[in-house]
Amino acid sequence: QAKRMGKNNYAFYSSTRDNDSIARAEIEKEMREAIDNGFRGFSVVYQPLTEATGNIIGAEALLRWILSTGQTISPAQFIPLAEYLGLIVPVGEFVLREATTFCREINATRPDFYASINISIRQFQQQDFLERVLLILEETGVSPSNIIFEITEGMVMHDIQRVKHLSDELRQHGIRIAMDDFGVGYSSLGNMRELSIDIVKIDRTFIRDVSTDSYSKSFIRLITDLVHSMGKMVCIEGVETTEQLDYCRECGADCMQGFLIYKPVPPDVLRERLET
Ligand code: C2E
Ligand code: MG
Ligand code: MG
Ligand code: MG
Repeated sequence: QAKRMGKNNYAFYSSTRDNDSIARAEIEKEMREAIDNGFRGFSVVYQPLTEATGNIIGAEALLRWILSTGQTISPAQFIPLAEYLGLIVPVGEFVLREATTFCREINATRPDFYASINISIRQFQQQDFLERVLLILEETGVSPSNIIFEITEGMVMHDIQRVKHLSDELRQHGIRIAMDDFGVGYSSLGNMRELSIDIVKIDRTFIRDVSTDSYSKSFIRLITDLVHSMGKMVCIEGVETTEQLDYCRECGADCMQGFLIYKPVPPDVLRERLET
């Protein structure tokens, strides 16, 4: 059951077993305490992004949170809450710091490896977001060309002028922009052209339905061709079977991501994997 809260359309679903017993207010209190205690319980895992050959070209940074009670809560649940409470700004900076530090480390041996980081509209709305990002990059010593920011169609619809202005500025500084979960929101192909997007990540529902739904199958092929004709890259999310992987290759996707290829792993595990 989803509860609507205020104009932000924040919906909190308490459907999973882990969260059944936890009240929203309690999670809010936990989140504030965690932040005040050096982001206690928060960590970042990395899901490799691969080329058709299986070669790892980068990784998406994904936030994880274990409450002080030991219970886990999925980002699909706590990210909207953090956004609603405005806490996504400090939490997002934590992710930025973690992911850029990790990327810098990997770049010592793999100079082309990149970190793809999810950014919320709330972060984009901060007037000094660019300055704060540049400061973190400087502190961690990572090159902006090794960083990708993932934004969603929802963000674009929310405030296209702001998103356009800021993504232009970020790109001028060498940070690339990916359109995440493409195809399920309301944004149009026109928006995609107007915004200087470098990478389009096709939402995982399309590859999921590729064997049962001809629309999904055509969508992937057509979008891939179109995006390529615009000189941009395509990443297909949610690859779970070898048939799906084969189709990604057949369509000429530049990048693939999914549980079949790699699950999200802690930084130490990915570091080790990249070394062997
Ligand atoms: P997303 O950015 O689209 O990230 C991909 C999600 O799909 C991740 O879920 C990942 O674990 C999952 N996934 C990857 N491969 C597969 C697959 O083959 N099958 C299936 N079923 N799922 C797959 P996760 O980590 O639970 O994150 C969910 C969402 O939470 C993310 O979706 C993103 O929107 C948000 N999120 C996660 N970390 C952050 C963060 O640091 N900041 C912000 N603003 N949002 C975040
Ligand atoms: Mg993402
Ligand atoms: Mg995605
Ligand atoms: Mg998603």
